[in-house]
Amino acid sequence: MRIVLLGAPGAGKGTQCKRIAGRYGLAHLSSGDILRAERAAGSELGGKARQFMDSGALVPDELIVEMMAAAINKAGRNGFVLDGFPRTVNQAVELDKYMAGDGLKIDAVLNLVIDDEMIAARMTGRRSCPKCGAVYHIENLKPKVDGICDNDGTGLIQRPDDTLEVVKKRLETYHRQTEPVVDYYRKSIAVYDINASEDVEKVSSLILEKLGAFVSSAKREP
Ligand code: ADP
Ligand code: ADP
Repeated sequence: MRIVLLGAPGAGKGTQCKRIAGRYGLAHLSSGDILRAERAAGSELGGKARQFMDSGALVPDELIVEMMAAAINKAGRNGFVLDGFPRTVNQAVELDKYMAGDGLKIDAVLNLVIDDEMIAARMTGRRSCPKCGAVYHIENLKPKVDGICDNDGTGLIQRPDDTLEVVKKRLETYHRQTEPVVDYYRKSIAVYDINASEDVEKVSSLILEKLGAFVSSAKREP
């Protein structure tokens, strides 16, 4: 199964993708996580991406498409869930072309729907583990010990782009450049809108319900 999870920054894409990937044995391919790893490694790509990420703008399409094509290739043929990519219609078109080259396509799209006010609270309260990438929230999803990762005991950090000022810019970028990707997909494949303002467990069950129905209907096709 090859799935795309769309939604505003802070909608819960990463949190839900980890669960979907675990449930269906898919690779979780997060463009944001890959970019942050490139930056931490001091690579040329990481250096080029830095100024865009820190200001809340998008990294240029050609860099992202090449990076994600490599990640998809590396993930092999067991299927994947894409998190944070594609973020422009051009990226979606290039992804379709790349996959068609291997006789593949995106099977379904999940669209996390949530309003901007709730997003701001989620993002400014987000804390992440710089070592394993686990994501927490200071009120909604607390670690067992304040400020410490449950998995490996590392001190949690706040992402530099999760300040109110940059979040505002990222939301503008989302509405202008990423929302049109939902309509692009609606023209050709199944898009499931999910109410992402519910709590984490409820959102997971809404997603798994939709995916379960999708998998059963795909099996019935000749
Ligand atoms: P969030 O999880 O809050 O949606 P991400 O971690 O996905 O944020 O992305 C962080 C930043 O990395 C974005 O603001 C953007 O600068 C860059 N980025 C991530 N994915 C893409 C993409 N597909 N295209 C362009 N830029 C991207
Ligand atoms: P995205 O990948 O879309 O940017 P995240 O999965 O990183 O979003 O979630 C953003 C923040 O909101 C994190 O701190 C996360 O713990 C929290 N969060 C995620 N889903 C929910 C939810 N359904 N209810 C409340 N908080 C949530």
